[in-house]
Amino acid sequence: MLNPFLLYMNAPHSPAASSLPIVIIGAGLTGSLLAIFLARRGYLVEVYEKRPDPRRHQAEEGRSINLALSHRGLKALQKMGLVEAVLQKAIPMRGRLVHSQEGDLTYMPYGKDQTEFINSISRIGLNQILLEQAENYPGIRFHFEARCHQVFLREGYIEILDTSTQEIKKVVGRCFFAADGAGSVVRQALAQQWPGYQSISEFLPHGYKELTFPPEAAGAFAMEPNALHIWPRGSFMLIALPNYDGSFTGTLFLAKEGPVSFDALPTPEAVTRFSKPISRMPSP
Ligand SMILES: Cc1cc2nc3c(=O)[nH]c(=O)nc-3n(C[C@H](O)[C@H](O)[C@H](O)COP(=O)(O)OP(=O)(O)OC[C@H]3O[C@@H](n4cnc5c(N)ncnc54)[C@H](O)[C@@H]3O)c2cc1C
Repeated sequence: MLNPFLLYMNAPHSPAASSLPIVIIGAGLTGSLLAIFLARRGYLVEVYEKRPDPRRHQAEEGRSINLALSHRGLKALQKMGLVEAVLQKAIPMRGRLVHSQEGDLTYMPYGKDQTEFINSISRIGLNQILLEQAENYPGIRFHFEARCHQVFLREGYIEILDTSTQEIKKVVGRCFFAADGAGSVVRQALAQQWPGYQSISEFLPHGYKELTFPPEAAGAFAMEPNALHIWPRGSFMLIALPNYDGSFTGTLFLAKEGPVSFDALPTPEAVTRFSKPISRMPSP
């Protein structure tokens, strides 16, 4: 998980500031876990998230992907007593299984023995567990469909746009944490408003799409379940991670433009033609 960064503190030791909530921008994995850390220390926390509540709405189509959860993430969850709840929904992956173009399999263990592994978990599933746990703390309030739309660094407040009513409100906090991910509005504000702050973003030519590998008819896994499957194909790659229900979540990483790209797959027939050479999967 990425670390959130502390954006601004409103005179933290003054009595007026200490009655204000701590504001977190983004209720992804970092924002929701950070809210629990802070609430356990007795702080009031307000979390503003631009998307709808993922417990009540479907994920953005094709973008939910699976996560490989390992030591660092587990350590953070352990501190909040959440490891057991999360691991109940995870599948251990003891190694990677590389599928060659010819259909050969090469197994590469992740650890020195069977006790060392990483865990496959649905990103949305993990986010839902964190949000549910966070809501058990009376000091935490989530605001969904609430986009941080402007950041006023020197003045020490942010503006939140309610994306359902289009109303804008000013939010003052004791301090602000930016947990708004890769395309951070807060980082953009820092770059514009803070002399000397430097931010470098490099965009990959590749995009990604989620694919579902359904279970076999009886609900059994169609491939080895305790592995991260990889089909490396030079300029692109397919991976598949196991799910609790016997399915696999695949992610295709492919250039956005060019002869071998998402742009070159405009129809279902083109997708079928393209996927045949990748998907030669021998039975386990
Ligand atoms: C294809 C892919 C595969 C990955 N696989 C793994 C993996 O296997 N294991 C792993 O550990 N990591 C993986 N990562 C990295 C992992 O996704 C990130 O480290 C993690 O999501 C960071 O969490 P976050 O909460 O900081 O950011 P995000 O998950 O991006 O959450 C940011 C949140 O802020 C919200 N937000 C954004 N802007 C605003 C705004 N203006 N106002 C209000 N809310 C806003 C967003 O809606 C979102 O909910 C992967 C990433 C990608 C792209």
